[in-house]
Amino acid sequence: MSPLAASRRVEAAVPQARRRGVYLDYHASTPCDPRVVEKMLPVLLDDFANPASDIHGAGRRAAAAVETAREQVAAAIRAEPEEIVFTSGATESNNLAVLGSARARSFGRTTVLAGATEHKSVLVPIRRLKRDGFELKLIPVEPDGRIDLGALAELVSEDTFLVSVQAASNEIGTIQPILEIVQIAHAAGALVHCDAAQALGRMALDVGDWGVDLLSLSGHKCYGPKGIGALYVRGGAPRALLEPIVYGGGQEHGLRAGTLNVPGIVGFGLAAEIAETEREADTARIRGLRDWFERQILEAIPRVRVNGSRTHRVAGNSSLTFPDVEAEALIARLRDVHLSTGSACTSGAPEPSHVLTAIGQSREDAYNTVRIGLGRFTTPEELTYAAMRIVTLAGSSCAPTPIALP
Ligand SMILES: *Cc1c(COP(=O)(O)O)cnc(C)c1O
Repeated sequence: MSPLAASRRVEAAVPQARRRGVYLDYHASTPCDPRVVEKMLPVLLDDFANPASDIHGAGRRAAAAVETAREQVAAAIRAEPEEIVFTSGATESNNLAVLGSARARSFGRTTVLAGATEHKSVLVPIRRLKRDGFELKLIPVEPDGRIDLGALAELVSEDTFLVSVQAASNEIGTIQPILEIVQIAHAAGALVHCDAAQALGRMALDVGDWGVDLLSLSGHKCYGPKGIGALYVRGGAPRALLEPIVYGGGQEHGLRAGTLNVPGIVGFGLAAEIAETEREADTARIRGLRDWFERQILEAIPRVRVNGSRTHRVAGNSSLTFPDVEAEALIARLRDVHLSTGSACTSGAPEPSHVLTAIGQSREDAYNTVRIGLGRFTTPEELTYAAMRIVTLAGSSCAPTPIALP
């Protein structure tokens, strides 16, 4: 493409970006797929009955819609429908996995192992368990963010009841070797929990193949609605492994009381199905865009560093360290390009991201790191505009190189 045509294309992208901004924070949340919204509308308006009201037809229709969605979520991770417990999201699923398995005290064991780069919704409930006499040991990661399997093998013992490792990082996109982790943990008789909030639709998920005992999912990370998620519990007899953390009406095998979020569940079901059926096409397109984007940034500002694993990384993730450029200041100046510092959850907090320090970054580098998340609705025009803005702002100390188009 000629430079003139290229600059025209950038100009054409500008008004679109000005209107709504360019959203590059798909790790924090994704928009609902329009097909999901369409599917949810009649559930909100007409089929709104309580699925527990099985005395009448309207309640039974709602219950049937929930069971269809349960089948869809189960199929997406190659589980059985009775192994799916609906929750309010991955935060609750992670809490249920950690606190529920500790309270079940299934084996009288008292140690929990968790990856050093786990999400706060895994680490904080585990830290809370210390008050009840449990011990937390963090599993160190390699510089690319992958679990140090040798360290795991040394840490795991006959006292370990749970090993919790995410499938993919919400900050650096690193994909973990779950199969190997499960083998090591199971050899010591420990349960394995996997936080797969960032994984559905981004990598193949097969709970049977992996052999994990518990696995967390989130609706709004895979183009479904917010406030809905699931915990996969191997074997479909969740009370054998877990004590509830929410008590009441006995829904979801008595494990998670509360009127089911039927619209959310129906939307999540379809979102999970689409995520899996369109996974390969989606990730191939997004990976192409991401790789193009990183090349533009690196060619224009060669001192930029890409974080995480180059080979074991989800397609939409780009965690970049701009030495000498403070991430918060850069993001503030970007205005209509929406991206995040290392982690959305630690944004605004004075502490640098625990994920970035776990992979060996200095505090300063961690403060100079931005997280870019591409997704299903990211267009080449949006990325072109974003790359231009980032290069102009972050590279202002050197002359920015003109950007070639994808
Ligand atoms: C978003 C996220 C969560 C929390 O999920 P919610 O559904 O928003 O509660 C947990 N773990 C990871 C890895 C995430 O990306």
